[in-house]
Amino acid sequence: MQRFEQALAQDLAAIQAQGLHRALRRVDAPQGPRISIDGHTFLNFSSNDYLGLANHPALKEAAIRAVERYGAGAGASRLICGSLAVHHDLDEALAHFKGTEAALSFSSGYAAAMGAIGALVGPGDVIVLDRLVHACIVDAARLSGAKLRVFAHNDLESLETILAWAQRRMPVAGSENVSRRPRVLVVTESVFSMDGDHAPLREIVDLKERHGAWLMVDEAHATGLYGPGRRGLADTLGVSDRVEIQMGTLGKALGSSGGYICGRRALVELLVNRARTFIFSTAPVPAAAAAASAAVALVASDTGAERCAAVWKRVSEFGAVLPDWPRPGSGVSTIVPLLIGAEEEALAAAARLRSRGVFVPAIRYPTVARGEARLRVTLTAAHSPEDVTELGVALKNAIKRTSP
Ligand SMILES: *Cc1c(COP(=O)(O)O)cnc(C)c1O
Repeated sequence: MQRFEQALAQDLAAIQAQGLHRALRRVDAPQGPRISIDGHTFLNFSSNDYLGLANHPALKEAAIRAVERYGAGAGASRLICGSLAVHHDLDEALAHFKGTEAALSFSSGYAAAMGAIGALVGPGDVIVLDRLVHACIVDAARLSGAKLRVFAHNDLESLETILAWAQRRMPVAGSENVSRRPRVLVVTESVFSMDGDHAPLREIVDLKERHGAWLMVDEAHATGLYGPGRRGLADTLGVSDRVEIQMGTLGKALGSSGGYICGRRALVELLVNRARTFIFSTAPVPAAAAAASAAVALVASDTGAERCAAVWKRVSEFGAVLPDWPRPGSGVSTIVPLLIGAEEEALAAAARLRSRGVFVPAIRYPTVARGEARLRVTLTAAHSPEDVTELGVALKNAIKRTSP
């Protein structure tokens, strides 16, 4: 036991020495523009609850009703006896919302990525990732056993080079003596979680089709926020029916908990049979599924449209606050990264903001690359214009530009 503790203390010291140590903060209030952390109230610009739904009465009521009707726990995996009516309702609501043949909900977005990628590719296949995709996709790709290739962020030339290489590895049609043709799966996010920039989805769709690959798009930071139906960026760009696997989370703009995969009926049927995070895990609690269904209905309604308009208004107001600050990539997003560079400096800036009553997280390695530490501001429909003004004043006083 003593050696065990010594080894761990050594690991922790190494993390600390790099300025990468993390600790939990105890939050004593629901999600909202103001949160109470360790007994202090802060103006909160760190939540992914973009539409302000996590504490919405309609979601809470749906969760309470589900608990009363179905209890606290689902009791088993969905393939045993845990596939409750609330889960089926959610799957149907998601398919209808996204305009796909079918949908399957998971206990988290992380589980959705792990389950889907492992079900679709394996040894002998190739998986191609944007350099900045979320950790759950990287982990899933590694675990799948497929050959992993990474293309430079949003770089179509880099992607095409890899796809051409992967295509050359494929057996010529008709000549194959293997039972299953090797697969090439490209995975990207539509709106990137730490940079807030957009993937060139139309061009990526064209490329993957030209090279006989499949495409999975993670819309974690786009679902509920883009397009007239608020279905996400792929739909807004008119390419959603050419994306084989549409993924997202129910825990961000949808204000509840869980993840989903949308697409063809055959995709969902395969996932039910093969996605290990779906098969070998207890079904999500009834409250989560019911809250997510309520969120989907709300997002599709006029209230959803109003909240969506409000968050985009806050984004444009914030855009006027620090017009010259360097921002990576292009495309509007509810995520606004303020690049700082050094890990310690990002931490110091976040601490200065906290001392002014504003909570903005410093994002460091391994969430982003070393030396690319940043403040990650997220705006929500629950913020007021005055909140954004207050953030602007605090930022101007708290951050020093280290890059020219
Ligand atoms: C948050 C996130 C996930 C994981 O979703 P959870 O429901 O939180 O597990 C997946 N992909 C991206 C891009 C994310 O930001």
